[in-house]
Amino acid sequence: MEEVKGYSKEEKEQIKKAYYLAEELHKGTKRKSGEPYIIHPLNVAFTLARLKLDADTISAGLLHDTIEDTSMTKERLKEEFNEDVALLVDGVSKMKEVDFSCKQEQNWANLRKLMQCMAIDVRTIIIKLADRLHNMRTLEFMSKEKQIENAEETMEVFVSIANYLGMNHIQVELRDLAFMYLQPDSYKRAKEERDRITEESKSCLDEMSIIIADKLKKQGINSQVEQRIKSIYGISTYIEQNENLAKMNDLLALKIVVDNKADCYSSLGIIHQEFKPIQGKIKDYIGAPKTNLYQSLHTTVYGLDGRHIQAQIRTPEMHKIAANGLAAYQELYGQYANYLMQEELEKRMPFYSYLIEANESIRSNQDFFAFLKTELFTTHIHTIYDKTGEVIELPIGSSPIDFAYILDGQLGNDNINNLTGAIVNGENVSLSYMLQNQDQVQVVADRNFIGPQRDFLDLAKTNYAKRKIKESRTQQN
Ligand code: MN
Repeated sequence: MEEVKGYSKEEKEQIKKAYYLAEELHKGTKRKSGEPYIIHPLNVAFTLARLKLDADTISAGLLHDTIEDTSMTKERLKEEFNEDVALLVDGVSKMKEVDFSCKQEQNWANLRKLMQCMAIDVRTIIIKLADRLHNMRTLEFMSKEKQIENAEETMEVFVSIANYLGMNHIQVELRDLAFMYLQPDSYKRAKEERDRITEESKSCLDEMSIIIADKLKKQGINSQVEQRIKSIYGISTYIEQNENLAKMNDLLALKIVVDNKADCYSSLGIIHQEFKPIQGKIKDYIGAPKTNLYQSLHTTVYGLDGRHIQAQIRTPEMHKIAANGLAAYQELYGQYANYLMQEELEKRMPFYSYLIEANESIRSNQDFFAFLKTELFTTHIHTIYDKTGEVIELPIGSSPIDFAYILDGQLGNDNINNLTGAIVNGENVSLSYMLQNQDQVQVVADRNFIGPQRDFLDLAKTNYAKRKIKESRTQQN
């Protein structure tokens, strides 16, 4: 009740009712840690309440294991609460009733069901992330085998989902936890390194925070400055490939929150007058947001005692979205949030359309999982821009053909069959060109030119493009 004290009377009543019901249903059951089972759904609800999600989501968080583990049914949840709570709990529940030939097949099927639920209501996946977070926080009580299994699944699937939805805080914690179980030695080394840096850089960050807030104030700009040090996983990934951690651009960062967009741009100039910028490190994610809705201005400067310090400049709204992504919508947009969340997912998040398309066209659960792993949930993704500067994300190794098929809507299917090449960063390239990160791409089609379509299949990297090419062939034949 402390966590939801700002909620309305009716909302609090509903949450209370959900709690007592869940407590009653799970009575007598214990977790592996020896605690009463209710501790788990309660912690899931805490995470959801801290995200300021609505009462239905928090209630569903409290009840999320009741269909799977107790006598509760979807129908009864609908009677006791409402349709949303019933649908959310049902979506989060696993498919116990289906008899699968093997455990692996069941995992694939569960995951697929979860992805399908996201299409109906993205809150399902947010509850699932909160569920996974508490399970990862308490993974020490599980068997060694279970620890590895859960950590792997977390790393392969849930970290990526959190990233796609812009839920940075949950992503970072899940990734560090999974990393700790998967590579304990590397984890330990990076953690020690991080602790050392935290200690060593404290006075520098404190002092710079004050200087920046002060300079901004003198120019009439209100600001809040927060400090952040790169995650353990982030540090480990960097030291594996580079010797000198001091050269890392975003090891140390200051998040500078100012009142509005205009202040963001002014602040960038004011900061550069005080601290010399490192050339080529300015990024404008306000003008060109990331596909997970992230917005900020980035610059890396030479800070006090020569440390590289990244400044992330943003408005309060951007700050909330930077932390919690789509899950921040409830707090930001209130009663319209559910509608807006679903709309953003469909219109602005490209991973979602790949997902929907794959769900419709891939039959086997194993192939579907393979698609998630190699194309959607891979860390090897390039950011590509189209001619208007819109962002497209493609797996490393993609060609202009993959790009063209993803942009299908704009180009029209006819033209894809007449592709002759592409213009990348102003230069003509062939269709076998391998796209590089940050490339700006425009495909070239010629109506008089029919194919070398036979090559298209070999030149395409993504299953998405390959499927589309095969489809258009069958239509032609
Ligand atoms: Mn659970």
